[in-house]
Amino acid sequence: MKLDTVLIKVASRCNINCSYCYVYNLGDTSWKGMPAQISLETITAVSDRLLALSNADNHPFATVLHGGEPLLLGAMKLRLVLKELREKLPETYPIGIQTNGILITNEILDVCSELKASISVSVDGPKEVHDKDRVGHDGEGTFDKVLSGLQLLSDHRDRDFLYTGILSVVNPATNPEQIYPFFKTLNPPAIDFLYRDGNHTTLPIGKTAPGSTEYGVWFVRLLDMYLADPRPIRIRFLDDLIKLTLGGLGTKDGAGVTDYGVLVIDTDGTITKNDTLKSSFDGADRFHQNWSAMKDDIAKILSSVEFADYHSLQKPSSPVCKTCPDLTVCGGGMTLHRWKNETGFNNPSIYCADQKILIGRIREHLSEAELSL
Ligand code: SF4
Repeated sequence: MKLDTVLIKVASRCNINCSYCYVYNLGDTSWKGMPAQISLETITAVSDRLLALSNADNHPFATVLHGGEPLLLGAMKLRLVLKELREKLPETYPIGIQTNGILITNEILDVCSELKASISVSVDGPKEVHDKDRVGHDGEGTFDKVLSGLQLLSDHRDRDFLYTGILSVVNPATNPEQIYPFFKTLNPPAIDFLYRDGNHTTLPIGKTAPGSTEYGVWFVRLLDMYLADPRPIRIRFLDDLIKLTLGGLGTKDGAGVTDYGVLVIDTDGTITKNDTLKSSFDGADRFHQNWSAMKDDIAKILSSVEFADYHSLQKPSSPVCKTCPDLTVCGGGMTLHRWKNETGFNNPSIYCADQKILIGRIREHLSEAELSL
C-alpha cells in the first residue's frame, strides 16, 4: 500500500463555525478530547515517522496541514512545525496548508515562502453565497475577512509558488453563472469544487431525494461555461472527469478507479482514516488498532490488514457500480457518499444520478469536439 497524502491536524479547533463542517457539525465530538494544537514533541515524532517512511519507500507523498484551522498556530509556531517537516522530508515532497484564510498575514506568508509550504483557501463564492454557511462563532459571515487574507496571498512576492488555489463547497441552490465569473475576478491559479458531505441516510443539503440531480444540473451549467471560456481558471474536479472520460487518470480520490492512500494524524499523534468518513457514523474514521505516530511505524501500518481493508473501501462494492458504464470515470464517487445505515458502504454514491448527467454532458462535449474515445 502506498501513501499519497498525509493530513496533519495541527489544530483541533477552528476560529469559525461553518454550518456544513464534518468536524464539528455532523455529530462527531471526538475533537473535544484532542489537544487544541499539536505540540512540538508530537510534530517531531510525526516528522520522524514521515522521514522513516520516505527512507523506506520512494513513493512520494504530500503533507497537508489541516484543522480545525491550521493558522491558529500563529506565525512563530507554524514556523517551528514547518521547519521540522521541511528538515526531515525530501525537498521534492510537497507541503500544503488548507486554511479558511482569515488569519493569513504577511508574516505567515513569509514563513510559508521560506519553508516552501503552499496554501489553498476555502471560499464558497460571492459574499451572499459564502456568508450563508461560512460563519463565525457569532453567526456573522466571514467573507470580508477571508477576502482580506486572500488579497495578501495574491499580492505576495512569492504568490506563484504559495497560492495553489481555492476550495469551494457547492450549494446547488446558487447560480453557477454568478459563481464562476466571481471566482474569475479573484484570479486564482485553480479552483476545486466539492460536493457537500452526506449519504443515503442523511441526504446532503440541497438534495431532495437519492435520485434527484440538483448538483448534477449545477455542475453541467458550470461545465458548459467552463468549456466555452477561452481563458478558463483550472477546475480540478471537471478536469479530472474530462481526462478520465478520455481514458487518462484523475488526480484525487472521488473520481476514477485509481486508489489513493490517505492517512490523518490528529493533534495528539493518533493516526486515523480519512476524517471525512466521520460524516457516515460516529467513529467511522477510527482504526481498531489505536495507532499513533508517537509509537507506531507508518510503513508497518500501511502493510497491515486493517489498512488494506480501509484502502479497499475506496473501490465501490455495489453491483450497480460494478456494472455501470460510467465506473471508470465516476469510480463510485467518494466513499463517504456511499454510506447507508442498513447496507454500510455497499451502495452507489448518493450523487450517482448527478454524476451520470455530468459525465453524460462531458461525453456530449467531447463528441462535439470529435475527441471521444
Ligand atoms: S455511483 Fe453511479 S455513476 Fe458512479 S459508478 Fe456507481 S453506478 Fe456508476
